[in-house]
Amino acid sequence: MNDTKRWIPVREGLWSDPSADGGEAQLIGSHCLTCGELFFPRQDSGLCSYCQSKDLEDIRLSSKGKIYSYTVVMQRPPVYYKAEVPYAIGFVELPEGIRVETLFTGCDLEKLHVGMDVEMVIEKLHEDDEGNEIVAYKFRPVTS
Ligand SMILES: [Zn+2]
Repeated sequence: MNDTKRWIPVREGLWSDPSADGGEAQLIGSHCLTCGELFFPRQDSGLCSYCQSKDLEDIRLSSKGKIYSYTVVMQRPPVYYKAEVPYAIGFVELPEGIRVETLFTGCDLEKLHVGMDVEMVIEKLHEDDEGNEIVAYKFRPVTS
């Protein structure tokens, strides 16, 4: 019997695989070479949704940013979200100028604030029925 638990990304292609390239996981977005627009998640259609250009390249986004907005959710949503409550969700603005929707982790919900420095981590979201860990990117306060 194989009891090895697997890490399964909540969605493929959101971040780079650190075991593949020896670096740290980074969120992957799209950059339109025609109009300069950035997207996250990346445009799987291969089309820029602003200018319809097909000239898109994948880019690795910064792993640190600042909280742009957030809210604390006290009640478990009826579907999809299976981890604990309360939790914080919101947007982080990255130095590239793009805002990424995210869950927040490793933080005192009372102390979160707009403009706070945060960094990206890959962390368990919940376990599936086979005991595999479903993982997602989240942001946590930078401690240093
Ligand atoms: Zn474009």
